[in-house]
Amino acid sequence: MTKQTKVCTKCGEEKPLSEFHRNARSKDGYQDWCKTCFREYNKSEKRKETIAEYRKSEKGKKSLAKYAKSEKRKKSLAKYKKTEKYKKTVAKYAKSENRRKSLAKYSKSEKFKKTLAKYKKTEKGKKARGQGDL
Ligand SMILES: [Zn+2]
Repeated sequence: MTKQTKVCTKCGEEKPLSEFHRNARSKDGYQDWCKTCFREYNKSEKRKETIAEYRKSEKGKKSLAKYAKSEKRKKSLAKYKKTEKYKKTVAKYAKSENRRKSLAKYSKSEKFKKTLAKYKKTEKGKKARGQGDL
């Protein structure tokens, strides 16, 4: 059995396949760059720029929208919401000027009125109204 290796197209070194991430879309099933190069790249500013650019692109927006609805996101969000970091962020935000402003703006918006009207018709909404919350 021959040991399988692959030449990294970034650093040009020949490395064992275990040094490459898998990539189902690639011809041989592995990424063109070795793990080390990917790690370096992930840390770089260039990558941040690329991501920022990507998020602004149509393709990026679509994939973000898709991700926003995905199970994976729900799970990672649920996990995140249990963290101390999240609780702190929320607590900080709740006290911030920005929140007050955005809330004031939102409560005047059509969207809010619609949401509220819809909510008042739900069981939960009826109950809340009964308790004087609305
Ligand atoms: Zn490399």
